[in-house]
Amino acid sequence: MSFAGATPKAMTTNAMPTNAMTVDVEDYFQVQAFAHRVARADWDSFPRRVEANVDRILSQFECANVHATFFTLGWVAERHPAMVRRIVASGHELASHGWDHTRADSQKPEVFRQDVRRTRAVLEDIGGVPVTGYRAATFSIGARNQWAFGILRDEGYRYSSSVNPIAHDLYGMPDAPRQPFQPNGDGFWELPMTTVRAFGRNWPCSGGGYFRLLPSGLYRAGLARVNRVEGRPGIFYFHPWEIDPDQPRIDGAGWKSRLRHYTRLSVMAANIDRILRGFAWDRMDRVFADLLNAPDQAPERAVVAPHDASPIAA
Ligand SMILES: [Zn+2]
Repeated sequence: MSFAGATPKAMTTNAMPTNAMTVDVEDYFQVQAFAHRVARADWDSFPRRVEANVDRILSQFECANVHATFFTLGWVAERHPAMVRRIVASGHELASHGWDHTRADSQKPEVFRQDVRRTRAVLEDIGGVPVTGYRAATFSIGARNQWAFGILRDEGYRYSSSVNPIAHDLYGMPDAPRQPFQPNGDGFWELPMTTVRAFGRNWPCSGGGYFRLLPSGLYRAGLARVNRVEGRPGIFYFHPWEIDPDQPRIDGAGWKSRLRHYTRLSVMAANIDRILRGFAWDRMDRVFADLLNAPDQAPERAVVAPHDASPIAA
């Protein structure tokens, strides 16, 4: 089998990169697909299942000896402080998913600043560890709100994992670099969700609904290709509600939302187990430590050279 575009260096690399395992800590009633059915003001009336589901994930990670990054909503952390402390005590990275899953591209800069500041402060207070990673709700940093990167850096974050360089109806920035880049060349990194390049476009290869809806072998082949051919780590993400087939159903959701949210929940935990054991995984801050710990004056700005195939190795 041959792979177009592989560099000779990548083809001769034997060691497979360690990938980044991530969990977006939110509950089943907080997802974008149901935002039109469930008002934020009503969230407290839903039975919460996030803590029990996170505990199952912590056990699963412990059995597989995997550490991960937990991008956690401030709203959830405030209500489940013991869960946050168990995440930290188990050796995982605590990171921010914003306060209440408001899309970053629907916020004015000052509102966004207050959101990420408040979330980081609450997470650090509860977890007792520095919080330097951020993921926007629904990958909602794109061409229209790139000002968000500068605010995140001002507020003490060191990286974001909020760009998904694909075409999608709810999110996506198909022209964004596929590899880590410094949006402002100031030492702050965007670590985009993983894609596979084929047939002239980017295909999602980072988990979420695609991982649940498509055969998981497709995902494993894609990640193996990114690791082997490009010599780069992938980033995988999933949600606590995705391993919970017994969660209450949301009334009145449309067919598309139902398909995205409820399909194949019962096989998710087993499929995650397969990838935990089939690849090497670690926390975001360790997988990308070479970038994040580099001096601020990095010589390259990947954003102005998106064709550069291997900034990680540089
Ligand atoms: Zn989310």
